[in-house]
Amino acid sequence: MISNQLSFLTSSWFPSRCFICRHLLHVDEQSICQVCLQSLPRAHTAELTKLYILGALIDADFVSALIFTDPVNTICYGLKYGDHPRLGGTMGHHVLGPFLVKHLKSTHRTTSTIVLIPMPISKRRRFQRGYNQCHSISKGCQKALAKAEIHGVVLPLLKKEIHRKSQVNFSAIDRWSNISNSLRVRKKKQRIPKDALLVVIDDTVTTGSSLFHAGETLRKNYPENALVLASLAVEI
Ligand SMILES: [Zn+2]
Repeated sequence: MISNQLSFLTSSWFPSRCFICRHLLHVDEQSICQVCLQSLPRAHTAELTKLYILGALIDADFVSALIFTDPVNTICYGLKYGDHPRLGGTMGHHVLGPFLVKHLKSTHRTTSTIVLIPMPISKRRRFQRGYNQCHSISKGCQKALAKAEIHGVVLPLLKKEIHRKSQVNFSAIDRWSNISNSLRVRKKKQRIPKDALLVVIDDTVTTGSSLFHAGETLRKNYPENALVLASLAVEI
């Protein structure tokens, strides 16, 4: 009887609160309300110049949707350390995904198959966290692509070979050198159509080293495919 009375606490319709403003979410909202989603600080061309230059070195487009400032930093921290896998799906579906759709339309690539490749995390970190936040973001992006009638698949093509300590306290040069040689294409190399567009998905870009090395690794294995390096947020 009591458990019946209290069942609303665990039922799926029990309303959740917005991760940012804490207001109750509408039934069709998840993790973050529409008002907060619309007011997130967007990245502009001027802030992305260093990434464009980096991307050009390996013939890739380097793009980022948001600026890593309040409240984006709280979201990114929640994705990594706060046990919020659904938040990644929401950010992919409503922020990075639509941003990618816009980019694909402007570069006339909407007819290609889009292969979404989550930035890998080590097995140990995956175990500690219970999920790869970049995989959640990629799944959300796939939904946004489908809504725009663009064919997208999520394929974890890359793997991280070794576990290192968190890079939070590392200098920029340390971070840059640490990541090199730790990314590999999975042994069972997937056959990717030559006209498919490879899009690496990351949550945050700081120096750009992780995404650059991911791009470099893919470029060596898939030299003929167009490549986009995409992150949810950029630190400036
Ligand atoms: Zn809100």
